[in-house]
Amino acid sequence: MSQPIGELNPPVRLMLTPGPSSMDPRVYRAMATPIVGHMDPWFKGCMEDTQVLMRQIFQTENRITMPLSASGSGGIEASLVNTLEEGDEAIICVNGWFSDRMAEIAGRTPATVTRVESPYGTTVDPEEVRKAGKGRKIKIIGLAQGETSSGVLTQLAAFREVADELGALLIVDTVASLAAVPLHIDNERVDICFSGTQKAISAPPGMSPITVSPKAEEVFRNRKTKVQSWYFDLTTAMNYWGKDRLYHHTPPISLIFGLREAMRLTMEEGLENRWERHRQNQLALIAGLEAMGLELLVKAPAERLPTVTAVMIPNGIDDVKVRNQLLDEFNIEIAGGLGPLKAKIWRIGLMGYCSQKANVLLFLGAFEKVLLDQGYRVGSGAGVGAAVQIYTNVGAAAVAGR
Ligand SMILES: *Cc1c(COP(=O)(O)O)cnc(C)c1O
Repeated sequence: MSQPIGELNPPVRLMLTPGPSSMDPRVYRAMATPIVGHMDPWFKGCMEDTQVLMRQIFQTENRITMPLSASGSGGIEASLVNTLEEGDEAIICVNGWFSDRMAEIAGRTPATVTRVESPYGTTVDPEEVRKAGKGRKIKIIGLAQGETSSGVLTQLAAFREVADELGALLIVDTVASLAAVPLHIDNERVDICFSGTQKAISAPPGMSPITVSPKAEEVFRNRKTKVQSWYFDLTTAMNYWGKDRLYHHTPPISLIFGLREAMRLTMEEGLENRWERHRQNQLALIAGLEAMGLELLVKAPAERLPTVTAVMIPNGIDDVKVRNQLLDEFNIEIAGGLGPLKAKIWRIGLMGYCSQKANVLLFLGAFEKVLLDQGYRVGSGAGVGAAVQIYTNVGAAAVAGR
């Protein structure tokens, strides 16, 4: 006879990964409240709150703004299947694992897809996109603002310019960057933007906030064919999230409770403060890593994504052994590399609730201990010392500026 299954009792980890991030206790509390029906009049108000907060975080007035009942990858899928039809042409900027996924998904639509690539750890050159689109009728340009596989941040302005020249919609993946990196959907004229709840918003995994400009809505209206995916057809999904509140599918109510609370906390902190917090904590982390003699994958500081820091694994040090020891001895999870960067880099996430001074200092101390055990020579306290320097200088600068 088999043993009865025990009570669910997961370990309490510090998730310094590129998602999911640890959550504020208030978000767990919101998720533990009783569910209500998805057509309950009270829930309609809760949906309204969720959309108000989401528009604030995206900095948009877009009517179509809602959480898709799907992880971040669902946001990629929805953006592409709603825009692309037979005969359309798409350009996808591919500089890592997730932008590659965007190209893969676009390739499964009837549209013709051109990939404009650059190596992992770098940004795509907008000039290459201009060249690729020259003399062609391009429907969309897609890219990732934050490429999580390599820790690269892409500035959007030059791509918006090229999209304007080509008459294309601009579709931006902000799964790893929303609420951590400056973004103004309306001012920057991003046509479709999607994110994930489990990264810098620090809500539970499983939803994808998405927003659609009036111009992209127009493109939806002018489609010749129905969207191939019923579930991800944004026009009909919006009949539920819009003023009619017509049943479309049963949304993950408890996850929406968690998301509402996580976004409320985001706006309580303030977007600017949150962006600055992510920047400062990454600067301290980087100072620590460099003081330990480690090298970053992304060389240009302006191209470093504040939520994910990619650090080269030193020669002779075992990727998996280091990560396992961090997990076993300190309950800290970090990530390895994906695709061509497998076993070449570690990725340290400081996303949302995880981006805290205390976590940076704890991680650097724990990392030093593990690296020493694994045979890497590092000066005692070097990483923590350098990070403390950053924090005290910032503190001093803030006092002086007062
Ligand atoms: C995590 C991530 C995704 C995928 O999100 P899932 O929630 O895992 O489906 C897509 N794009 C980027 C940039 C990401 O960081």
